[in-house]
Amino acid sequence: MEKAKIFAAAELEFDTFPRLIDALGLKIEKDMAVAIKVDFLQPCPAIVQPLFLALAQRGASPFLTDCSVPFGDALQSLNAAAMNGYVSGAPCVLADGVKGTDYDLIPVRGGKRLRSAKFGRALMDADLIITVTRPAFSERGFRGVLYDLGLGCAARAGKTEVQTSGKPIVDAELCIGCGKCAAICEHGGARLDPDTRKASIFPPKCSGCSRCMRACPVNAIRPNFDISDETVLERLAEYAKALCDAKEHAHLVLLDQAYASLDPTALDALCAEKLSLPESACAAARHAAALSFGTTDAEITEI
Ligand code: SF4
Ligand code: SF4
Repeated sequence: MEKAKIFAAAELEFDTFPRLIDALGLKIEKDMAVAIKVDFLQPCPAIVQPLFLALAQRGASPFLTDCSVPFGDALQSLNAAAMNGYVSGAPCVLADGVKGTDYDLIPVRGGKRLRSAKFGRALMDADLIITVTRPAFSERGFRGVLYDLGLGCAARAGKTEVQTSGKPIVDAELCIGCGKCAAICEHGGARLDPDTRKASIFPPKCSGCSRCMRACPVNAIRPNFDISDETVLERLAEYAKALCDAKEHAHLVLLDQAYASLDPTALDALCAEKLSLPESACAAARHAAALSFGTTDAEITEI
């Protein structure tokens, strides 16, 4: 496989972004819907506004977007966007809707762990997706570009699918037998035993939508996180691949300087090198490269 191309910009002036767009070979057309995928839960990076303006000046219709948090009120994410400085003239869209249930199901071609992926519909409606990533760490390991694509762009049900066994579990001691979970479940996954008045989840029927969790008045239903970090990282790499197979995409990473590429795997490998990450943190990039989804070998050009 050819080396990936990464473009680096030390100075972030307003004219940097048109040059980055051109270096990446992006064709920005009039009225093109461009989703700038950010993390509403983190402070707005300074590059978001000039990137937005550079796209708007070329006639595109850019918007800032993120998907809802996996558990809890979906509108928390929009409130966080306002708190974190994203709402400043640029449209902010919750990609998977105000209930976190608005998503498109797309195939994972060549996936070893998953067959399909669920992405926020606003992202799927976009003509181009540009991710803006500030590398960080989570309890599952490194959060780079693949993480932003594979988990950040995933709708609530997708996030659940990637990070958990996919089916919630009921704590029978907490269950008060109200039956709300069974009533709200559209798939026959949540069931209430009429004799014991205790609920349970029937995995073959459960789609992992997590509605029952939100309906339970005593928080007796919770996700089952009992899977390995490697499994999670490989799943999110497959999600990222599915999205990039389906949509035109480009990626910006903020490290010692700004780096841009069409190859998220190459950018994650660059992050691993710059941040001296341990091997275990790089499972997503390794799995992506094994699926021929990008390469960890890149050449960097200063612009
Ligand atoms: S997660 Fe969704 S499909 Fe599964 S039991 Fe709960 S409501 Fe039903
Ligand atoms: S909603 Fe909660 S408390 Fe009510 S039956 Fe289901 S698990 Fe039990």
